[in-house]
Amino acid sequence: MLAESEIQKRQRELSQDHGGTPEESRAFSDAMHRLILLRKNLSKKSWFQLGSGFYCIMPKRSLRVVKWLGTIPAVGVCTSCDRLFTVPLTTLKSVADAQESLRVQFAEHKCKSAQA
Ligand SMILES: [Zn+2]
Repeated sequence: MLAESEIQKRQRELSQDHGGTPEESRAFSDAMHRLILLRKNLSKKSWFQLGSGFYCIMPKRSLRVVKWLGTIPAVGVCTSCDRLFTVPLTTLKSVADAQESLRVQFAEHKCKSAQA
């Protein structure tokens, strides 16, 4: 994570020269703490809005929603092997169910790029 390494770098600089005010180093600790919290949330939650896309992120691969039915994700594609996943019609009633259906199909598919 770029922001995190930037903060670590700045923190090292601050601890090396004693020019950094206590307020400044506290501000950096706070920022660091927020990043750690964010990362904890990332591991719990697998769906993210990234730019204009909506993704299910997993280790080594991610799924991008390519078709929506209103606010409900209907079709997703594996960004590694281009495999499509379609939410069953019966599951297209709730966002949570549709997301879970896509996530399970995605988690269980044999990804070509992961096998290589
Ligand atoms: Zn795949």
